[in-house]
Amino acid sequence: MATIFTKIISREIPSDIVYEDEKIIVIKDINPQAKTHLLIIPKKEIATINDLMPEDRELIADMFFVAKKIAKDLNISEWYKLHFNVWEKWWQEVMHIHLHLLSNI
Ligand code: AMP
Repeated sequence: MATIFTKIISREIPSDIVYEDEKIIVIKDINPQAKTHLLIIPKKEIATINDLMPEDRELIADMFFVAKKIAKDLNISEWYKLHFNVWEKWWQEVMHIHLHLLSNI
């Protein structure tokens, strides 16, 4: 199901995009919980980590490689954390998977 992230990907609504390739977009979180708070979002609509299929294996790996690249570009390689929230009971608000990248550097 389309979420706000699909609208961001299609440029229906604006966002602060820091990286994009054919499979992934990275935006600044609108309500940052740290000095740097980015969302690494696959363009493919996948609701939650529980909905991953075997064919998504490479895409998920790509998300982590993008995270690594961005951390290096921002000079925070030794000071960041990554996390997925999974389902509403653990505060997943947007049902389109996204990897949070946070740093206070
Ligand atoms: P989660 O709680 O893991 O689903 O995270 C969703 C994140 O998306 C939250 O940290 C929100 O602040 C962020 N968010 C929601 N709408 C937007 C938006 N339009 N642009 C950027 N970030 C957003």
